[in-house]
Amino acid sequence: MKIKYMLRRTLCPWNAKEIADETVAYCRKSRVDEIAWITESSGMYKELLPINEIKKIIPGLEYARKKTLAAGMLYSINPLTTLGHGEYGHELKLIHPEMDFMVDFTGKKSRACACPLSPYWRKLMTSTYRLYAETKPARLWIEDDFRYNNHGSVKFGCYCDLHLREFAKRTGKTFSRDELVARLLRPGKPDPVRKEWQKFLGDVLAETVALIAKEAHAASPSTELAWMSVTPLILDVCGADIRQMLSAFADGRRGAIRIPTTVYTEQGHRAMLFEDESLKKALPDLPASITRCTEIESCFHSLYTKSAAFTAAQIEWAGILNVPNQTLNIFDYIGSPMNLTPGYGKMLASRKNEFNSFAEVFAEAKSIQGVGIISAPSMSANVHTTEGKSFGEFSSRESGWANPLRAFGIPIAFGTGEDITAVTGQALRSLDRKAIESIFSRGVMLDAPALKVLHEMGYSELAGAGIGKEKIGPFKSVPLGPEEMTDPDFGGGKYHYSWTYALWPEIVLKPMKGAKVISRITDVDGKPLYPAFVLYENKFGGRVAVCPYNLGGSGLDPYANREPSCFYSEYRKQQIQGIVKWLGRGKIPLIVDAPGWVLPHRADATGRVMLAAMNLNSDPWESIGMKAPVPGKAGKILWADINGNWRVLARKNWSQAGGLVSMRLKTIVPPLRTVAAQIFF
Ligand SMILES: [Zn+2]
Repeated sequence: MKIKYMLRRTLCPWNAKEIADETVAYCRKSRVDEIAWITESSGMYKELLPINEIKKIIPGLEYARKKTLAAGMLYSINPLTTLGHGEYGHELKLIHPEMDFMVDFTGKKSRACACPLSPYWRKLMTSTYRLYAETKPARLWIEDDFRYNNHGSVKFGCYCDLHLREFAKRTGKTFSRDELVARLLRPGKPDPVRKEWQKFLGDVLAETVALIAKEAHAASPSTELAWMSVTPLILDVCGADIRQMLSAFADGRRGAIRIPTTVYTEQGHRAMLFEDESLKKALPDLPASITRCTEIESCFHSLYTKSAAFTAAQIEWAGILNVPNQTLNIFDYIGSPMNLTPGYGKMLASRKNEFNSFAEVFAEAKSIQGVGIISAPSMSANVHTTEGKSFGEFSSRESGWANPLRAFGIPIAFGTGEDITAVTGQALRSLDRKAIESIFSRGVMLDAPALKVLHEMGYSELAGAGIGKEKIGPFKSVPLGPEEMTDPDFGGGKYHYSWTYALWPEIVLKPMKGAKVISRITDVDGKPLYPAFVLYENKFGGRVAVCPYNLGGSGLDPYANREPSCFYSEYRKQQIQGIVKWLGRGKIPLIVDAPGWVLPHRADATGRVMLAAMNLNSDPWESIGMKAPVPGKAGKILWADINGNWRVLARKNWSQAGGLVSMRLKTIVPPLRTVAAQIFF
């Protein structure tokens, strides 16, 4: 089976044997493959334990190991703490007088979280991991507290004296904390020291992992050191380089990564979009020697936070994205018997074959296809800050088109090599001239901040729209009516309006000679005020679509203040689908035709194109259309129903014209369920 369940279960010290026994029994019933034993209870959290306390945990782990292996499952360990997750009331200095603590960029010192350069902490951690490794786990995890951001009162670290001194030693540049922070955050063009400092922060993390790996592998050479990464969407902002980290984790062997899905509570079906984006962002950076795991977590671990149905949707989609190993953190940390929640186990057991049926097929993927979202190393080093007050300003806000595209049935991919690239925020600042000219010789869609950056960088002729002086947003300076779609190829027609409301145009577009306006913002009498979407074919023969809205939002949270819900309408869907078709000159990756929110995916293998779509609405779909170009004559299409049963699609339900395959799957797709197709050519 491709799909593997890695259940994370807390071995509460007050009840370790009983928990081990009942967990093993529940896991056997639920078709679990591996148990990652969490070493202590975060419900009675004691933070960084001294080594004599770690030693007390080992007998429980040894017992759990014996039981786990005897039941035919893999035994792994999930230590709860490395640097410390936050501050929970303890004064760790009293327990560890020699420990150095993490310091925020404001100078505030943590009461509980260690600095990764601290010699005392490093000794404690290598000794701790050696003890755990001696129990011979298949995987030994480093928790997601191994990071610089979000440690209680330390929002962004580490700016302690050890860090400042070590930076000076390596670069010859001596700064006080305040001087350094001022230079890092300086509004406008970034000080070159930002790149050096971010790299230094990343180097320290990777070097620390290497120390732990060396010690763990000395005790157990076959153990995979495994990384519970923070979300790839902000990894670089937080001073970590995913490739460098993974190389340290692998330590010349095989390592593992848990890629977060960032959905800890059930916030509605559209939260699936987070998982898709997070996994797709990380996947291009993962070497073959890394075990790919995803994070299926419900916090605080019960049906009150997440249903079995949503949990299942997450597992199914991760398998389709070729992340077959599912870390399951769905049972509480305080020892409540798992049988109190039989629903999770029943779901895991009864749907495993279905998950696997999709995952086996999509595991053959050679590449993920979609409209490209720019992804490059060290993007945070190139961002211009505006206020210069927060590290959240380092985010280049590059994925603002991700939701509009997928909502309208068009999948995304991360990189710069796609036929169409969708650009928001400051993503272009991370590309050199060659890369910019290359993407603009294909198809590009831009939001207002991206257009501003393009102009600032001196490529104003590429987009076909200048920027007028009038400032409209963030508050309306004139009463605005709706956006009127005027061109029939792009959702246009008489009285075809879509809301502006909370969708402020940030700039006034000035179409250049040869540009075409396909929609416009009207006043409250319906008279045209400003161009909305503008199309242009540039000197490289590339096609560009520009809009005056800010789709990337602001702040560190990549999901805060993105496009407002009033952006979405049926005419908007026709407009965006029309734009993507025009930009790609027929080379669209996929358009899924189904009502409401779609989660679409395309992956290509040798002689085969694989497509999938999940229903993100509470209403069922009654049938579903898919259109995708394939590089050859399609001979056969297989499709999978929601239970993962693959069968031949009747010839009358599909056709091919000019490379483009159009198909209709006549099947009911309930909420959070998936259908898929394979086109053989
Ligand atoms: Zn430090």
